Amino acid sequence: MTDDARPDDERDAPTVACERCDREWVLDREVNDLDPGSHAIEQFALDHERHTGHYPDGVTPWVARCDRCPDGERFLAERPARRWAETHARHTRHTVRLEPPTGAVEAVSPRDDGDQS
Ligand SMILES: [Zn+2]
Ligand SMILES: [Zn+2]
Repeated sequence: MTDDARPDDERDAPTVACERCDREWVLDREVNDLDPGSHAIEQFALDHERHTGHYPDGVTPWVARCDRCPDGERFLAERPARRWAETHARHTRHTVRLEPPTGAVEAVSPRDDGDQS
């Protein structure tokens, strides 16, 4: 009998580390029934940012920021960020800047073919 391999203990429990806090968290318990990963980490990252003002390591948000008013939001995925930008642009006719985690900033402009008559 050998005790040196216990794969059960090391199931891929998602962990999140934060260099600034010098801490690491295992999300295992909160994730029981979910896919390992994305949602729990996303939720954790948003919570962490809310409490500390920064994101954990390896998490870089999409930032949607309006050019014309103080409105803005941060997202951890492209789709909601883009949806927010397009919705804000359409409703307010403002141009929104969409900053991806890497790469060039994109301007989302209101479309003229909108539902305003
Ligand atoms: Zn932190
Ligand atoms: Zn605006």
